[in-house]
Amino acid sequence: MEIVVSGIRPTGNLHLGNYFGAVKNFLRLQEEYKCFFFIADWHSLTTHPHPGDVTANVRKILAEYLACGIDPEKAAIYVQSDVKETLELYLYLNMNAYLGELQRVTSFKEKARKQPENVNAGLLTYPTLMAADIIIHKADKVPVGKDQEQNMEMARKFARRFNMMYGVDFFPEPQSYSFGGDAVKVPGLDGSGKMGKSEGNAIYLIDDAATIRKKVMKAVTDSGPTEPNAEKPEPIENLFKMLKIVSSPDTYDYFNEKYNSCEIRYGDLKKQLAEDIVNFTTPIRERILDFSANTEYMDRVARQGAEQARASADKTIREVRKIIGFH
Ligand code: AMP
Repeated sequence: MEIVVSGIRPTGNLHLGNYFGAVKNFLRLQEEYKCFFFIADWHSLTTHPHPGDVTANVRKILAEYLACGIDPEKAAIYVQSDVKETLELYLYLNMNAYLGELQRVTSFKEKARKQPENVNAGLLTYPTLMAADIIIHKADKVPVGKDQEQNMEMARKFARRFNMMYGVDFFPEPQSYSFGGDAVKVPGLDGSGKMGKSEGNAIYLIDDAATIRKKVMKAVTDSGPTEPNAEKPEPIENLFKMLKIVSSPDTYDYFNEKYNSCEIRYGDLKKQLAEDIVNFTTPIRERILDFSANTEYMDRVARQGAEQARASADKTIREVRKIIGFH
């Protein structure tokens, strides 16, 4: 069975963008592939050197993953730092990763610009750690967003280079798994662009109903269309995109017709949208709270996931040692 690996950084709560852009797809993948989903706590140190209580942050994301429906009976869900074998592979990969190529990675350059006071080696070697996370399980597929495409190219390059250097055909080249037509971009409601943590416009799965209503009612709109069937400017298009994601087709059609006939009342649209988001997130929010309260269960899930991931990683790293020449 083909192997899928994906990681998420524990640097905040999951929002609707994470859910519809990533997690929802994981739910399908866990039915079809051998999946390893990990919480990238080591990676988060490259940008958050003082994470405070890492364990609490990790637990928070784990509870959210489980609440979304990631099933520990179907997928191995584990914490990156529980699988030390990855570090050994990271070291070997770093020995054959070159300064020039690492410095040319766009996400490195961007982060270096954003945090000039902390351009650390972890940031520089982010792609080798990511490659290690992936190829430690000899993964075939990695579901990633467009922003990770270059890091995926690096992972393939490191896998290929290892094979070439040691004259083996050991690591498969991990492919980016694209969701094709199903790739959803969840918009922000603040006028332009996508929903994101750093954009400050995120609606979180853990938000309560009042918070969600407040966020949606603040969405940017305009004074309304002045002629029938007008094209929608971006802030309005974004509201409709959101309706398409969380509301019923009937609701979408109703407001679309109102817009086309210039009878739209944005206040009504926002109220409906807020209720549809609340209806969607409330059961997830309740499950997040339940899981969060059940630390015993969560620890068991993390332990079980780590055991599965370690078994897979150990098998790979033993082979790698032999291939390099450690006997
Ligand atoms: P981030 O929270 O920015 O690290 O995002 C983690 C993953 O969630 C990304 O790689 C995307 O797959 C997904 N994601 C985040 N924001 C959005 C969005 N607005 N629309 C669709 N997918 C998103």
